[in-house]
Amino acid sequence: MTGRPLPMLDLPAPMAGAPRASHAPPAAPDRLAEFVTDDVALPTFHVWTLGCQMNRSDSEEMAGALAGAGCAEAPNLESAELVVINSCAIREAAEQKVIGRMGHLGRLRQANPALRVVLTGCSVRVDNQADLRRRYPEVDLFLRPDEEPELTARLGLAGATAPGLLAGEGVARFERVGRSLAATADRLPGTRAAALAADSVRRESRTSAWLPIIYGCDKTCTYCIVPFSRGPERSRPFDDVVDEARRLAEAGYREVTLLGQNVNSYGHDLPADDRFRDVRGERRLGRRLELDGRPDIAALLRAIDGLRTADGVPAIQRLRFVTSHPWDLTDRLISAMADCPSVPEHLHLPVQSGDDAVLHRMGRQYTVDAYLELVERLRAAIPGICLTSDVIVGFCGETDAQFEHTLDLLRKVRFEQVFAAAFSPRPGTPAARLPDDVPRPEKKRRLQALLDLQEEIGRQANEAWVGRTTEVLVDQVRPPFGHEQASGAPRVAGRNRESKLVHFEGPPELVGQVIDVQIERAGPYALVGARLN
Ligand code: SAM
Ligand code: SF4
Repeated sequence: MTGRPLPMLDLPAPMAGAPRASHAPPAAPDRLAEFVTDDVALPTFHVWTLGCQMNRSDSEEMAGALAGAGCAEAPNLESAELVVINSCAIREAAEQKVIGRMGHLGRLRQANPALRVVLTGCSVRVDNQADLRRRYPEVDLFLRPDEEPELTARLGLAGATAPGLLAGEGVARFERVGRSLAATADRLPGTRAAALAADSVRRESRTSAWLPIIYGCDKTCTYCIVPFSRGPERSRPFDDVVDEARRLAEAGYREVTLLGQNVNSYGHDLPADDRFRDVRGERRLGRRLELDGRPDIAALLRAIDGLRTADGVPAIQRLRFVTSHPWDLTDRLISAMADCPSVPEHLHLPVQSGDDAVLHRMGRQYTVDAYLELVERLRAAIPGICLTSDVIVGFCGETDAQFEHTLDLLRKVRFEQVFAAAFSPRPGTPAARLPDDVPRPEKKRRLQALLDLQEEIGRQANEAWVGRTTEVLVDQVRPPFGHEQASGAPRVAGRNRESKLVHFEGPPELVGQVIDVQIERAGPYALVGARLN
């Protein structure tokens, strides 16, 4: 960096109803005025994103805000003058990935003392501020997820072109989540709207777009850190979401994924509106959502599906949504999925365990039978639907027999894919107070047993595709692997409607197109075929 180092305006975010974070210096708005000047040499930046799709979407907003402030993107972390780490705290291993890079960042800083490091994402919470500096010694600025829109302002980069909150704007609110305090996601719907108005979201793909519809999580999963890091649920206004989808269609996006920790509870916190007088909160599982007369995700799917081209086909060809909690999977939603041609035949529906006692301890508030009944309803309404899921093994008190029940469930449902992990206690969550009594080697054994079973189920499910023709939305150029290297032919990949990964020979120009592919071979995780058009 050629100019003076980037100032680090670690101004405390204004807090309503909460004590000020102990490490934060007192508010100094005059310092802000001092640093918002033209002579700050603009750093090149790199955003390192870990974890879920919501983080990827948030990173698009932060990268856009930095670019809007005039910063150029560095080709990699090593050459960047400003590193923004968007962290994941779902498991200790995800946090260790970042902690393990502290030494590397320290060496980079020795080579370039002007280097600045920002840590944001779920590792930064209201309740762990004191711990952060110890765990992440190379980080200059910590931002909670709800503070991300303040990024440019807190770095002193908030020039006229940088959208987002100025520090001090849009007072953060805090709510009690269990025994902890979490920042609500109140400000995020508004700052998303501002970022879109400034056209500053730097999307990672030109084919598929993330579209956040609800922030935070109100659920009660005892193992999960998300309600503490992301706070209670806040939905974006219905018309804002539909408008963003319309703009994406106009910009040529083929696929949109609606995002939220639990998209199925979208709308319950929005005001009632006569347009949605037919919506009734359905009680299926868990707590009843107050949805009466409010927009729900079913209405959202229908409205976005209703955006049509002049030929009458859906302007967004593939409308996905993730993640769905079984609580709020209503009949209205299942009907909307069945009726809307743009909604593909795939649903990710995390089950977490196949044992009622474990589900109860996890706070999931459904039983295995209730989950199986949902699966039946989905399969009856949407023939050929592919289901994928998340499972945690070795949760507190899980016996061998209870783990076997999870394997039984996998055999029964035959998910196409399962994202499985060993339970990792997260400090501050209710489960952290339960004994983590499944020994690590046993967790490992269970995880491997589950992955082996699922690999076989996945292989069999994929083999049923051999000989079929399927529509692939190409979104990546693939390096050839194994014997394909010999042919040297270019390869591409993408997903079909059922979300199966399909590889085939084809030029990079196919990226962004929907191609008919005949499936020739199948492995447990992907299909290989030949293009027909
Ligand atoms: N909201 C989604 C849901 O209801 O499943 C997913 C959120 S979470 C980011 C993604 C997955 O991480 C969860 O489905 C769960 O399987 C896993 N997970 C969360 N906390 C965990 C923990 N403490 N240990 C192991 N896996 C965990
Ligand atoms: Fe975590 Fe449960 Fe919320 Fe998913 S629904 S984010 S697992 S608390």
